[in-house]
Amino acid sequence: MLSRHGYRACGLTDFLDWLDGRAELPQDSFLITFDDGFCGVLDHALPVLSRLGWPATVFMVSQRLGQPADWSMAPDAEDRSRRLLDAAELGTLRDAGWAVQSHGRRHVDLTELDDEALNDELRGSRADLATLDEAVDVLAYPYGRHDDRVMTRARQAGYRAAFSVQPGFNRRDADRLALRRLDVFGSDSPTALRRKLALGTNDGSLVKQLRYQARRVLARLHVAA
Ligand SMILES: [Zn+2]
Repeated sequence: MLSRHGYRACGLTDFLDWLDGRAELPQDSFLITFDDGFCGVLDHALPVLSRLGWPATVFMVSQRLGQPADWSMAPDAEDRSRRLLDAAELGTLRDAGWAVQSHGRRHVDLTELDDEALNDELRGSRADLATLDEAVDVLAYPYGRHDDRVMTRARQAGYRAAFSVQPGFNRRDADRLALRRLDVFGSDSPTALRRKLALGTNDGSLVKQLRYQARRVLARLHVAA
């Protein structure tokens, strides 16, 4: 649906180059990211995105590769849908042009850690994943949680960019350590998804759309007056 409407997914490197003003991207470019890296990313997302020729980025919990997501649900090693991708499976994504980046070591709220534990999460996950990707220097904060101290430490630990879950668009003047993203859920209808993308909001409801259009009309009238 997004492809039919002219949207094009770009790769992480292209996005960062665009952000730094070193490259241009076509209108309606966007970035696809997956946090945690459940097996469903490989089983369901990769085939569709490969058909479109669209790359994506997966943010991995570096000490839980190939294991159940123990921070969010009861461990069940037999249930593939609850398991995170392992190193070999991540290799398949890499071969398809995907980026593999950091989501910390154990999926903990970084704002609650002391400096030593925070450093271990930030630097340790880079080291853990270094064998999978040539440069692990982009982070997605677990639960999107970050503050000034976490952002400073992340920069010092070698991250050149980090993603929050604050909704909105990223312009070139965006804080590299607090990049915005939209939440996309399996329950989103295609229409709701398109509205989210058009408006830069997590609320894909029609009411929001109408309000937005009303504001735009009012803004134009104001300018005209
Ligand atoms: Zn997560």
